Amino acid sequence: MKLKVDESLCISCGYCVGVCPEVFEFSDDGPSHVKVDTIPENLEDTAMEAKEGCPTEAIKEAD
Ligand code: SF4
Repeated sequence: MKLKVDESLCISCGYCVGVCPEVFEFSDDGPSHVKVDTIPENLEDTAMEAKEGCPTEAIKEAD
């Protein structure tokens, strides 16, 4: 599974980074981004929890 953050939607609330810091981190210029290419299987549930909890639905599935 791959995820990406639509930086134009991200309001830098910190939810995803708090829930799953192994996958999401803040960029130097504000919005969060996905720092791994493919989400490791053991982190998929937590990463999806972050995706579903994002208040602006900025986290999308990627190819
Ligand atoms: S949860 Fe959504 S809005 Fe909040 S920092 Fe993550 S991507 Fe941005």
